[in-house]
Amino acid sequence: MSLTEITTRLHKAEEEAGRPVGSTQLIAVSKVQPNERVEAVLSEGHRLFGENKVQEAAGKWPEFREQFDGVNVHLIGPLQTNKARQAMQLFEAIHSVDRPKLAHTLARLAQELGHCPDLFIQVNTGAEDQKAGVLPSEADAFIAECRGLDLPVQGLMCIPPVEEEASLHFALLAKIAERNGLTGLSMGMSSDFEKAVSFGATHVRVGSAIFGARDYG
Ligand SMILES: *Cc1c(COP(=O)(O)O)cnc(C)c1O
Repeated sequence: MSLTEITTRLHKAEEEAGRPVGSTQLIAVSKVQPNERVEAVLSEGHRLFGENKVQEAAGKWPEFREQFDGVNVHLIGPLQTNKARQAMQLFEAIHSVDRPKLAHTLARLAQELGHCPDLFIQVNTGAEDQKAGVLPSEADAFIAECRGLDLPVQGLMCIPPVEEEASLHFALLAKIAERNGLTGLSMGMSSDFEKAVSFGATHVRVGSAIFGARDYG
């Protein structure tokens, strides 16, 4: 696959869903990928990327930002409170706000720094023990708590359980967002981004389909 092919598929999915073409943001998930591959996608003109680790992002994006204008990097992986300050300086958006302690830390830092990235609240739609995110039953209260802290909550994010039908999770996330008046929906990955678009995704996070398989060797 390539960036062009994925963009074409994304636009087709938008059309089929009766949504405006270009209404879904394509986050190219560059974690673990060699810099040459990332640079190739930057050279094709793409500017929106996703990383799941603060440290890894800190090691490559400041340099890419010097080389390319308009770069936009979103944190899509878990965030420890002791890395929150660094994350707020590295990323334009954080998709993994998932607990009160983190929300309070972000609010305090936002005051201090005078700015805050766009925030997405991660919902553990499958209620999986090993996965981050607030439980669906706790989502409304947590969204209200974040709003009470004046945090710029743009939407919700989920990672469906691998062995389940993703549609159910996308539909649930969309429903929670709607009843809370949130418009952002970060959902859909390489294997199911078209389906996510049909459920209203505003941000799809696509890694391997753009860059090729990640080599963790
Ligand atoms: C790695 C990752 C992705 C991208 O996964 P692919 O299957 O390579 O598209 C999306 N979202 C999150 C949270 C990830 O960690």
